[in-house]
Amino acid sequence: MDFNLTKEQAMIRKMVRDFAEGVIGPRTIEIDTEAKFPLDIFEQMGELGLLGIPFPEEYGGSGGDTLSYAIAVEEIGRVCGSTGLSYAAAVSLGASPIYYFGTEEQKREFLTPLASGKALGSFGLTEPNAGSDAGGTKTTAVVDGDDFIINGEKCFITNASFAKTLIVTAVTGKNEKGKNIISAIIVPTDAPGVTITSNYDKMGVRGSDTAEIVLDNVRVPRSNLLGDEKKGFSQFLYTLDGGRISIAALGLGIAQASLEKALQYAKERKQFGQSISNFQAIQFKLADIAMEVELARNMVYKAAWLKDNDKPFTKESAYAKLFATETAFRAANQAIQIHGGYGYMREYEVERYLRDAKLLEIGEGTSEVQRLVIARQLGC
Ligand SMILES: Cc1cc2nc3c(=O)[nH]c(=O)nc-3n(C[C@H](O)[C@H](O)[C@H](O)COP(=O)(O)OP(=O)(O)OC[C@H]3O[C@@H](n4cnc5c(N)ncnc54)[C@H](O)[C@@H]3O)c2cc1C
Repeated sequence: MDFNLTKEQAMIRKMVRDFAEGVIGPRTIEIDTEAKFPLDIFEQMGELGLLGIPFPEEYGGSGGDTLSYAIAVEEIGRVCGSTGLSYAAAVSLGASPIYYFGTEEQKREFLTPLASGKALGSFGLTEPNAGSDAGGTKTTAVVDGDDFIINGEKCFITNASFAKTLIVTAVTGKNEKGKNIISAIIVPTDAPGVTITSNYDKMGVRGSDTAEIVLDNVRVPRSNLLGDEKKGFSQFLYTLDGGRISIAALGLGIAQASLEKALQYAKERKQFGQSISNFQAIQFKLADIAMEVELARNMVYKAAWLKDNDKPFTKESAYAKLFATETAFRAANQAIQIHGGYGYMREYEVERYLRDAKLLEIGEGTSEVQRLVIARQLGC
């Protein structure tokens, strides 16, 4: 067993950390308070090849592995949860399904601009009445000659207002048992009938774009069907398994940031004539956070390693997502506690960590859904 990063993975960590601290860091508070999507930062991330880390060079990617990508999400999340979420969603949800299931032509046409960072992609699964129960999708795609005509509504979709393409799930028919067949279809955002609005006022990840999408008689060629028409449901389950590694990595980044801020503050803050880090009550909090961060890191990296080595990773990505995101929430909460009243103030940033971390327990499958996935993998 080798716990060392490869030379390439270590280089990516350093490059992304420098970029996150140098370019994103000075903007983080403004991104949160103004709830403004930092498009220019994404353009720079595209130029650095970050949007294409896990994709081959022939499709505009950087030819890296899942672990390198997870490290990149961790480093960006350590500095800015909003940017981290939009980054994770663009790669894992907007682009990866085209890489996993697309035809050669679809990869050339739709994946290349995303992987090379020239455009962003979105993944529209959630609907007003189909969240955890994604099988309850109401959006329909009906064949009309060489086209699909799509009608429906999607909600809470990350990056959609800035995306060039959406991958939407839609009911395309019924199987032999009379159950809905759900397929995935690539929809250009400039197709007539697509309306995207971004009016949510969010608790956290405020600089990450979150949008509603209305699809009103949207016509796209049948060649935009992604993968196997009858396997749309299992395809998005696979996509979510991969996406969970990146949300776990984002949780890890926020937990790491909480630890660093809490430790630094505990050493600096003096009460009763000494640093509060001398009090055992504070030391125990820091020890618990540090241990959980390390456990989370091991789980996230292991899930990424399993995926990179073509081994089953459904259970491990659910473990990682569940544990790392709940660790992020606990770590941020304790970091606020260690900061006392100052922790409640925006400028100390730890309150933002808590607000951002909360989303991670909800998106890409709630904590309850992760427990269901794990239980199913156990054979329950
Ligand atoms: C900021 C943000 C960004 C998002 N980005 C995207 C995106 O890019 N693409 C996308 O498709 N979606 C996205 N989502 C949607 C997200 O994935 C859903 O919100 C999430 O899956 C939960 O669905 P829901 O909100 O409908 O909650 P519900 O499914 O209604 O759940 C409500 C509660 O019931 C619990 N629950 C539901 N079913 C069960 C069960 N069987 N057993 C036990 N408990 C259960 C849940 O865990 C939760 O606590 C985003 C959401 C947010 C807030």
